This record gives sequence, C-alpha cells and structure tokens, in this order.
Amino acid sequence: MTLEKNFIDDKRIVEILSKTPSVEEINEVLEKSKECKGLTFEEVGVLLNAPEEMVIPTLSEVAGKIKNKIYGNRVVLFAPLYISNHCVNNCTYCGYARSNDFKRRKLNKEELIQEVEILENLGHKRLALEVGEDPKNAPIDYVIDSINTIYNTQRDNGEIRRINVNIAATTREDYKKLHEVGIGTYILFQETYHKPTYDRVHPNSLKGDYIYHLNSFHRAQEAGIDDVGAGALFGLYDYKYEVLGLLMHNKVLEDKYGVGFHTVSVPRIKKAKGMDLNDFKYLVSDDEFRKIVMLLRVAMPYVGIILSTRESEELRKELINSGVSQISAGSCTGVGGYKESEMNVSSNQFETEDNRSPLEVLKGLVNQGFIPSYCTACYRSGRTGDRFMSLAKSGQIGYICTPNALMTFMEYLKDYGDAELKEKGEELIWYEVNQIDNEKVRKNTIDKLNRIKNGERDLFV
Ligand code: SF4
Ligand code: SF4
Repeated sequence: MTLEKNFIDDKRIVEILSKTPSVEEINEVLEKSKECKGLTFEEVGVLLNAPEEMVIPTLSEVAGKIKNKIYGNRVVLFAPLYISNHCVNNCTYCGYARSNDFKRRKLNKEELIQEVEILENLGHKRLALEVGEDPKNAPIDYVIDSINTIYNTQRDNGEIRRINVNIAATTREDYKKLHEVGIGTYILFQETYHKPTYDRVHPNSLKGDYIYHLNSFHRAQEAGIDDVGAGALFGLYDYKYEVLGLLMHNKVLEDKYGVGFHTVSVPRIKKAKGMDLNDFKYLVSDDEFRKIVMLLRVAMPYVGIILSTRESEELRKELINSGVSQISAGSCTGVGGYKESEMNVSSNQFETEDNRSPLEVLKGLVNQGFIPSYCTACYRSGRTGDRFMSLAKSGQIGYICTPNALMTFMEYLKDYGDAELKEKGEELIWYEVNQIDNEKVRKNTIDKLNRIKNGERDLFV
C-alpha cells in the first residue's frame, strides 16, 4: 500500500517559474516541441514564462499536428449527467457548496432512467457521471446502483456504452466497487495543486485534505482502476503553477504504474451561485487559456484533452484545431437538468457558454472537417492502462480511433441525423475512409460501415 505523501515539488515549481527565458531558449524549446516526444518540466517552464504572442502561433500548429498524428482527425463527444447535488463540502467556487441554500435533490431510479433516455435520444453513448460528496445522501452504493441502471437503460438503438465517473476522493474499497461495476475513466480534479490555495478554497470540509485528494489516483490504481482523468480548475491560482502541477502528477503515476492520465480537463472558473468572480484574482485570459491547452498537448502528447461547454462555441472550435480531443455537447449541469431543459427550468452547478444541441455541435465539427466520434471501443476491449498507452506510443492507436469514429458517426447519422447532416456526414465518412493508408484496415472499415448502413449496430475494432 502506498504511503500517502505530497509529491508536488513546490520548491522546484517556484524555481522553474522564477526564470525569465531568453529568445534563444524559447525558440529551442519550440523546435523540440515539434518532435512529439513531450517536454520536461523545465522546458514547459520556458514556454509558460514566454509572452503568449511569441509562442501561440507555433504551439497552435504543433499541437494540432500532434493530436492528428496520434489520434487522427476525430473528436470524441460525451455528456455530463448530474445525479445528486447533495454535498457536505463548501468549495468557494461551486454552486453546490453546502452554504448555498437551495432545494437539494438526487435522482431516483425512475428519474434517472428518464434522464438517460433523453441523452440516448440525443445520440449520446458515453457519459460523465457527476455526484456531489455526501456519504449519507449519496453513498457509494447509490452511485453503483445508478451506474447499473444507466447501463441497463436501453431503448431502440439507444444505449450508454461507457460511463466515466467523477466522484469525490474515496477509499480503495470504494474504488474497487467502481472498478467491478465497469466504469470507463475515473475522473477527479485536483482543482489546485498549490496547497495553501487548496486549503483556503476548501474550508472545513472532507475535501479539504490535500494529500488524501492528491493520492486518490494511487488508491484507484491499487484498486484496479488503471484509467484516470485529471484536471485543474483554472483561476484558483497561477495557471503556470497548475500546469506544472498537472505534469508532475502525471509523471509520478507514469513512473509508479507505467501509465499516467488518460485525459486532462481544463475547466476555467465560471460564475456560480453564492460566489463572486471578482473574488478570484487569478482568472485566466483567453490567450493564457489557449497557451495552457496547447502546452498540455505538446508536453503530454498521448493524453486526451477535454474541453467542456464552459467555453464558448468560438473558442471550442478554435482549440479543436490545437490539440483538444474530447468535448461535451448539449450539456446540462444540474441534477435532472435534461428533463428540466425540456421544461425550461434549471438549477446548474455553474454557467455554460456553448449551449448548442449535440446535432448543432456535430454539424459544426463536420463543417470544420472533423469526424465526430462516439467511440467507446477501448474500454470494452480491455485496451486500458498500459495496453492503451503502448498502442498510443507506437502510433497504432490512430488505426483504431479513426475506423471507430467513422463507424459510430455512421450509427449517429442513421439513428439521429437530420437530412443536412446525413448528406454532409456521409460525404465526410466515405472521403475519410479512403484516406486510411493501411489496406486491411480500410477494407475492414468499409465492410463494417456498410453493415451499419444495413442496420447492424455496435461494431468496433
Ligand atoms: Fe461539492 Fe464538488 Fe461542489 Fe465542492 S466542487 S461543493 S465537492 S459538488
Ligand atoms: Fe478512445 Fe480507444 Fe475509441 Fe480511440 S479507439 S476513441 S482511444 S476508445
């Protein structure tokens, strides 16, 4: 059993960030970023401390190329599903903080099925399950029951094939239960890697134990979960510190378990009930945010980068070209939010900016030349952890991601597309399938696409 400790080297981060890089140093690191081999903490520090206008043009191009080289021309889609807003914590940035007075709720089985059916009718196949921390009102068994209900809710061609789970830091025993029920990625954001800030924004609460929270992925790994997704809430502290914190966390996991983060999320603080954005002095500008996303892509080439609907349509469209590989679509961030949005009422955890429907998001992706993907293949083929990483690092994952993206997109078009998307989407699919340079993979994909057109579902490689 791992002895829990603070492996974020504060002294080293502060030292790295204290240096002002020369133009030569900046150009040298930019050149190295093109090799797609990742960057050291010190090299990332050079780019973090470089002026945005000096690095963004090159980083943008390199980040886009790296993502295409590893994963191909596809963007994975998912939706969050909030099942309980009961919370014993008092995070200063969150609408669900216990000091906020509003009527709390958790979904019962019937309400959950209703939400899942709405999501399935929108075409979703993968969800991120969101639950506030409350051992009494939303214990682990409630989460496990909910996961089983979601997997068992299938109507017509609608089914959720993979549930990523975002629950509070917990014990090995609880993680074992999550592993056994068959989750996709276990998601947990450190929020901030800067301990004094962490302590300040999590006052008097279960979540306030920095070291316990920081070591959650270790406990999850030891309980059998080898697929984890990290994140920092940008705006709590200096974004440069958070980027280096994320990289250090990833490296510690890689060194210990041979596999680091599968994904990284990059939420920025948004207005929420009971908080004032003016109280947060480290809010991140759009240019700084661009730099964060691009830097994470070049520093950790194999990690999926997730952008949520917190960001605007314009910025999401732009950053898909610069390394983002997963986006949420049509999101509601309240408990029972999908039903409520049909009825035009809401109780959200925070405000969202991109409020397009999944159909509109898909049209936007196709117009940009990206293949929308609802792929969940790796989790269902046991390609997680180091098996996944070795495929990604050998450059073979693209031969899997692209066919699966094309197949799941064909399914979407047949089951949920309108006339406009069907026409443009099929054109894109047949164009992209002919770009696959491996003949065996190409033929196999064409065969499966035709079978999907003829009514088969859930084909993947
Ligand atoms: Fe609770 Fe999570 Fe909100 Fe904190 S961020 S108050 S733990 S729901
Ligand atoms: Fe993700 Fe694997 Fe599907 Fe690629 S093939 S999109 S890595 S699940």
